[in-house]
Amino acid sequence: MPEVVLEADALKALVAFRRSLRRAAPELRRDLPWIAHDDPWAVFVAEIMLQQTSTGRVVEPWRRFLDTFASPSSCAQAPLAEVLRLWSGLGYPRRAKSLHDAAREMCERFDSAVPASVDDLLSLPGVGPYTAHAVASFAFGAPVAVLDTNVGRVLARALANRPLRPREAQSLASKLLPREGAAAFNQAMIDLGAQFCTRDPRCMSCPLRRACRFQREGGTDPAPRSAAVSRPQASFANSDRQVRGRILKLLHETALTRRNVIVGLADVDVERIEVLLAQLEREGLIGRVAGRFVLGGHAEVAR
Ligand code: SF4
Repeated sequence: MPEVVLEADALKALVAFRRSLRRAAPELRRDLPWIAHDDPWAVFVAEIMLQQTSTGRVVEPWRRFLDTFASPSSCAQAPLAEVLRLWSGLGYPRRAKSLHDAAREMCERFDSAVPASVDDLLSLPGVGPYTAHAVASFAFGAPVAVLDTNVGRVLARALANRPLRPREAQSLASKLLPREGAAAFNQAMIDLGAQFCTRDPRCMSCPLRRACRFQREGGTDPAPRSAAVSRPQASFANSDRQVRGRILKLLHETALTRRNVIVGLADVDVERIEVLLAQLEREGLIGRVAGRFVLGGHAEVAR
């Protein structure tokens, strides 16, 4: 992977940053139940849940999920409807379907276990480069750099002090990774980004401020225009996301007719409900039995 060519000074700065971060890692470490967990399935579930949901909202659903589905095979054998019920509160329910599909693929192709290599992980539904690298690193100790939105901000500010293109960010993250202790280093980068190098950075109390270019040189914050850094989400209130969630919630308990759904969402325009019902059905998150909508797709219903 080409792209970030480091001058001698930049290389020295990178080494100094790496050293400072390793020193600060114990202080940065957050108390989260999936960190350094020894079960790859528990790590895999956490990484899927963390894709679009903040850490604080993931802890309880993650525990609930693993209490019910302690392994890929227990998840694979369950109906999708049960997985969707346990997903409640996390949003973006397509991830629940992907997780269910991924568990089934693990059972079919990987001896009912989470695969260890980045390539095998990438072949699973719902797994992109970030998740594949995170699972390979955190569950199996693979020496691969994890690049999420937290790490993206740290790289752009502390190392480059300019916006990075995607390949540059990945290349810089790989160069920064130490040969030993890659998982702990990746975790420290994420912890730094989550607690100090946030959207509004807390530079004055940041333990890395002496090793940080943005702190030293100043200028316009490069993070918002840099690769891997997520943009602020559109408002949730009255969004399609919210209404889709409400439809699924109505179906948690029982099968409903189209009319029941419309009555249950009396404040929502009927046309909009129709569009979202069709969308959810296309995505396999709901199906129909005897003219009623049910949680889970058609394949589910036929089982
Ligand atoms: S000093 Fe500020 S910009 Fe630099 S790493 Fe810390 S929080 Fe981020």
